[in-house]
Amino acid sequence: MARTLVLGIESTAHTASVGVASSGGRGGAFRVLSNRSAVWRPPKGGIHPREAANAHAESLPGLIRGALGDARAKARDMSAVAFAQGPGLGPCLRTGASAARALALTAGVPLVGVNHCVAHLEVGRALLGCEDPVLLYASGGNTQVIAFAGGRYRVFGETLDIGVGNMLDKFGREAGLPFPAGPAIERLASRGSKLLPLPYSVKGMDVAYSGMLTAALQMRRDGERMEDIALSIQEVAFAMLVEVAERAMAHVGRDELLLGGGVAANARLVEMAGTMARERGAESFVPERRFCVDNGAMIAVLGAMMLGAGVTTPVGGSAVRQRFRTDEVEVSWR
Ligand code: AMP
Ligand code: MG
Repeated sequence: MARTLVLGIESTAHTASVGVASSGGRGGAFRVLSNRSAVWRPPKGGIHPREAANAHAESLPGLIRGALGDARAKARDMSAVAFAQGPGLGPCLRTGASAARALALTAGVPLVGVNHCVAHLEVGRALLGCEDPVLLYASGGNTQVIAFAGGRYRVFGETLDIGVGNMLDKFGREAGLPFPAGPAIERLASRGSKLLPLPYSVKGMDVAYSGMLTAALQMRRDGERMEDIALSIQEVAFAMLVEVAERAMAHVGRDELLLGGGVAANARLVEMAGTMARERGAESFVPERRFCVDNGAMIAVLGAMMLGAGVTTPVGGSAVRQRFRTDEVEVSWR
């Protein structure tokens, strides 16, 4: 099989990132040749889509040049240009899509629009060797449990309100922690000692986090130690995630768990997921941090898989899809 080179552009939220992946050639394996990112951080408050998009517009040309340079390739060497078509914030998505269209048209190569959530799963399959995992995707904006069933990636459980990372960041913002708050909460939690009663909100296969956010903020006003609140948030929030992931594994009969999303950088979540998997005779896979957070490499990897199955996206059909659902993707590459 000839070697395929695909450049992938990620810009669904606060991260602009460009990666180059190869597939085929000797061994047929996927390799990441480059992955360059620029993370936009709000000066204060939450993410402002227009401002993040402006930052992406400024950083993308340099990221593309850098990623091509790292891969020792030119744009015209690419077999295709892939981009995250959704889900995500409209202005951010459109900025990445415009860059992808411009690059594909000048290089004279096809465009491949990919689903961001599916990319989080496929990068694990491509690089870690798990075959058919249940993905626990825990990031800022998204919290989903996804598995392949009946020819599609299906969402078995998800948050009914805010993403788990969003909950951590909102708590952190009110509590004066730096953004993003996940790492700061993890450090605080390591010095916590008391488990405080936060609402454990699992409904069937779904989770909800806004009640926990309100309760944790109230505990802070009541004078509980930040270390103990942080520990309690982690224990309860992650136990909820692990419970729904386990239920999905039992339901679809899978013995592989894959973590993805920025929250998967948390050692306590990794530990809890690993314990659950081990206790049911399953295996847990955690990508390197740079492939857990939003990254262009995973877009390139999924783009290469789709291209291999003959899937491309005509420029006329490349409008972004802010609410692109995981189960809308027709999976023809596996
Ligand atoms: P993503 O949306 O996938 O780019 O991931 C960003 C989210 O991951 C933010 O909400 C961060 O607070 C969260 N995050 C990053 N590192 C950690 C960590 N060590 N523990 C918990 N959450 C984290
Ligand atoms: Mg993501």
